[in-house]
Amino acid sequence: SCFCQSSLTLKKFHGFRFFFSLPVAGYHIDALADKNEVAKAVDVLPVNALLSLGVIDGRNIWRSHYKYVLNLIKPAHDLLGDNLWLAPSCSLLHVPYSLKNETNLNENLKSWLAFAEEKLIELEDIKLLLAGNLSDSNILIENSHCYESKKAHAALNVEAVRTRLKALKDSDFKRSSKFNERCLKQRKKLSLPLLPTTTIGSFPQTKEVRQNRAKLKNGSISQEEYSEFIKGEIIKTVDTQNSLGLDVLVHGESERNDMVEYFGEHLDGFAFTKFGWVQSYGSRCVKPPIIYGDVSRKKPITVEWSSFAKSVDPRKPMKGMLTGPVTILQWSFVRNDIHLSEVTNQIALAIRDEIQDLESVGLEIIQVDEPALREGLPLRSLDKKEYLEWSVNAFKLSTSGVKDDTQIHTHMCYADFNEIIENIADMDADVISLEASRSKHELLDVFAEFNYPNEIGPGVYDIHSPRVPTVQEFLDNITGIIQTIPIEKLWINPDCGLKTRNWTEVNGALKNMVLATQKARQLIK
Ligand code: GLN
Ligand code: ZN
Repeated sequence: SCFCQSSLTLKKFHGFRFFFSLPVAGYHIDALADKNEVAKAVDVLPVNALLSLGVIDGRNIWRSHYKYVLNLIKPAHDLLGDNLWLAPSCSLLHVPYSLKNETNLNENLKSWLAFAEEKLIELEDIKLLLAGNLSDSNILIENSHCYESKKAHAALNVEAVRTRLKALKDSDFKRSSKFNERCLKQRKKLSLPLLPTTTIGSFPQTKEVRQNRAKLKNGSISQEEYSEFIKGEIIKTVDTQNSLGLDVLVHGESERNDMVEYFGEHLDGFAFTKFGWVQSYGSRCVKPPIIYGDVSRKKPITVEWSSFAKSVDPRKPMKGMLTGPVTILQWSFVRNDIHLSEVTNQIALAIRDEIQDLESVGLEIIQVDEPALREGLPLRSLDKKEYLEWSVNAFKLSTSGVKDDTQIHTHMCYADFNEIIENIADMDADVISLEASRSKHELLDVFAEFNYPNEIGPGVYDIHSPRVPTVQEFLDNITGIIQTIPIEKLWINPDCGLKTRNWTEVNGALKNMVLATQKARQLIK
């Protein structure tokens, strides 16, 4: 029997005693999640039963610290002898397969890493160390040396980053005025119609877009040629939105391979593997970046593209598009020598600088996507509270440096917001867009019952489907939403980004979405 991430589940089933009373020959627990549980497990283990301890972190890619692990399990080994088994903390599907073919990684960084194959070697090492003379072992000395060298490495201790974090004040984590005041200034500046229409950011990532990116990577086109191509995509995207009659435009994100990888590639402290694929869901795989050092922004990341988009049509508000600090953190492999909140705040400061640069080149609206904020919610209730506090704070740190009349949007994909509606409100984004078509009524009820104070765009069509909804369907949807959410707070947008759709589908759907919105405005008059 195996209980990974044991505590929560164990509590639910009346603790250890229930788990260890199950009629099995052996029990596996994650020894790393809570170091106190090893001794407790040994205490309640039935006579002659096997105890398997998860001693290698199956959820991260860092080498184990042998000395720590040995101290943790030695008492159990002394008592249980051959009845103690060693294993990874959980299945190895969360980590990449092998470091063997990673020829692009810096050698220092590589020496700190262990993917699945290397983790199995570590397991064997720990077994040998546990059985032998620990203090003389070369393996142990090499492992400690690796840890020490990592701790002392300059990239993990960048003074400018640390000093800036230490100097943060409470006021850096909140907008200078309350939403009600900001909202008036934004309305005046943006002069948008009732039920403003917009999109979530990405437009079709066509074969041509992907081919050009690949060509830049393999050197068959120059940076200049690539830039010209992307500019052409931006012009097409802005012109399309204009002719469809959308109110707030975007540049289309055609320069981005992935919403996290793209930002990681432009930040210090990040590294990228060649083959580090892991399962995301179903048959989908992702290649998460590695955050190994202190994070800072080398130079502006999105400003060139967003300001170019703004220059294509300066008349309409242009929305700058960024990925939020919590999502960048959650969708990466993260260093484990400092608290996650500190890493997130480092990323937040980089995003904050980017937002301020976007504001200074004339972007009136900036969207900071946080689809992974809800997803990262821990299982244990105590951990939940702490997580929500620092993750919401990091979002606020990234977005609070702007003027009152700069409108901050955020976006979240499908999620159960019931539990965290208070925290969502605490994020204090001027506008939040949400995926709504999978659970429209439930979602709207949560926001309505809470009396959500800021503006909200519950998605009016499911971008996961190629089907183009009719004008009437959109109109029914919009008039339905108006019953629950006050009309002056309401935005009209799709559920999520359009990158997986083709141009015919996008043109058809957005055209009907805008037509239905115009009809809805007429009906309200
Ligand atoms: N801005 C991103 C896009 O439009 C948001 C994607 C997401 O929420 N996952 O693709
Ligand atoms: Zn989304």
